[in-house]
Amino acid sequence: MPKDPVCGKEIDQDSARQSTGQTSFGASEVDPTMGTRSFHNGEWYYFCSLDCRTQFLATPNTYID
Ligand SMILES: [Zn+2]
Repeated sequence: MPKDPVCGKEIDQDSARQSTGQTSFGASEVDPTMGTRSFHNGEWYYFCSLDCRTQFLATPNTYID
């Protein structure tokens, strides 16, 4: 199960995928309780909420080794 790189929470990949399935780069219309994801540096990153995704996208290097 993928982990939210911001807060460390485990993300249900299938739920995140469903809620963002309509666009490649993370839809603006997602259910935040279902998690979300973002494509960065050739990889999908999963987030528990839009807040975590926003934080990650603002300073991705903070969360990636
Ligand atoms: Zn989170």
